[in-house]
Amino acid sequence: MIMKREDYYQWAERAARWGAEYLSTLENRPVRAQNAPGEIAALLPAAPPEHPEAMETIFADFERIVPGGMTHWQHPRFFAYFPASAAPVSMIAENLTAVMAAQCMLWQTSPAATEMETRMVDWMRQALGLPEGFQGVIQDTATSANLCAVLTMRERALGWRGIDSGMVGEKRLRIYASPETHSSIDKAIRIAGIGQQNLVMVATDGEGALDPEALREAIDVPAGVVLCVGGTSVGASDRLRPAIEVAREFGLYVHVDAAWAGSAMICPEQRGLWDGVEGADSVVFNPHKWLGAQFDCSIQFLADPEPQVRTLGIRPDYLETLGQTEITNYSEWTIPLGRRFRALKLWFLLRAHGLEDLRQRIRNHITWAGEAAAAIASLDGFRLITDCRLSFFTFQYQADGEDANAATERLLRAVNDDGRIYLTHTIHEEQFVIRFQVGQFECRREDVLLAVDVLRELASGINPRARNGR
Ligand SMILES: *Cc1c(COP(=O)(O)O)cnc(C)c1O
Repeated sequence: MIMKREDYYQWAERAARWGAEYLSTLENRPVRAQNAPGEIAALLPAAPPEHPEAMETIFADFERIVPGGMTHWQHPRFFAYFPASAAPVSMIAENLTAVMAAQCMLWQTSPAATEMETRMVDWMRQALGLPEGFQGVIQDTATSANLCAVLTMRERALGWRGIDSGMVGEKRLRIYASPETHSSIDKAIRIAGIGQQNLVMVATDGEGALDPEALREAIDVPAGVVLCVGGTSVGASDRLRPAIEVAREFGLYVHVDAAWAGSAMICPEQRGLWDGVEGADSVVFNPHKWLGAQFDCSIQFLADPEPQVRTLGIRPDYLETLGQTEITNYSEWTIPLGRRFRALKLWFLLRAHGLEDLRQRIRNHITWAGEAAAAIASLDGFRLITDCRLSFFTFQYQADGEDANAATERLLRAVNDDGRIYLTHTIHEEQFVIRFQVGQFECRREDVLLAVDVLRELASGINPRARNGR
């Protein structure tokens, strides 16, 4: 009764059939889960089973309980947050990774994983137009890469004393960033022992880009500067070249977070957005967001890996590779020892689609987002708060006589309860705004246009005066 290795084919086939059915009927489901809190937990026994259960039962329970409790991130009408696009081909690669179930922490624990990772990072370096010389590593998330960069800034500024004798008695360090950087930078600074108070938010201009002169005035002590390209809240970007020039004057380490927007840099016409990036020490972007590589897959490029490896690398006797001292062990570049084989899905994705197709998808998303922004701006009661940045804009709605923040929030709730599309919000300059991004891998123009119709329809439904028959 217990599932054995010999049963693998039977259940993998069943899972593949389920997956194909799921993908082909995905758009009939509400995008955002429609559950009440606790609803799924109530379907799961409080205690673990003592005795084996039949796979048949487990699979049936999966079908009964799980899909109805999911928010469908691969839904073509997912316009919330940022995407977590998974090309079908990258799902297949992940299945293969799962079956080999390898720990790819050292070169010798799977040479294919290490050597393919080196090659895939270099393929992506070329695809993004980064100069030769940048190396890199595939991490789980941008959060991890941001932490690695902040730790490297810290140790470089301390002459690598922190990893040896700790932070007690060390000089104060500061990290300078624009207020548009992601909260994972705040978290990194807390974890790194630098302290939230030492994250200096530098003033920005009207576009939300860090002001290089304000940066120059803000810098008093090291350790580094964090810049962002395509911020999470409203998509703002720093102008890298002048900011990096200032950082260089003070000898500070520079990390660029382009987690979402980085994928668009495969399109040469978009690269003005990160002009000057070649001057950075470290750059992160997530192929798992907008490129189509299944989560998790975040590439951190490094102009020189040495400072980071010196900060994070540790090689106890039991992790030595006999007779090989010059090989790459990527676990020495990052925090966890254990590593998944993440390069495989990039290899599948890049080969199965080719850069041309991936560029076309991103160009489509940018075009369609522009169309949607224009259409929404022309609807009664709607106004754009931030214009399209790549494929992302924000807007507000105001019903007659109602506060715009309250009306926008009411509209957003109505949209997500409706389920045909999924949108999320942010607070921008004290306004409650709806974020709208186009980036789902299989999104079509008609999906984006439908979103405009849904907004028009639901807005008229919640407008008190429209409801009174006006
Ligand atoms: C999404 C995002 C992150 C966090 O990414 P994870 O990979 O989920 O950690 C960090 N920075 C920016 C700019 C992002 O858009």
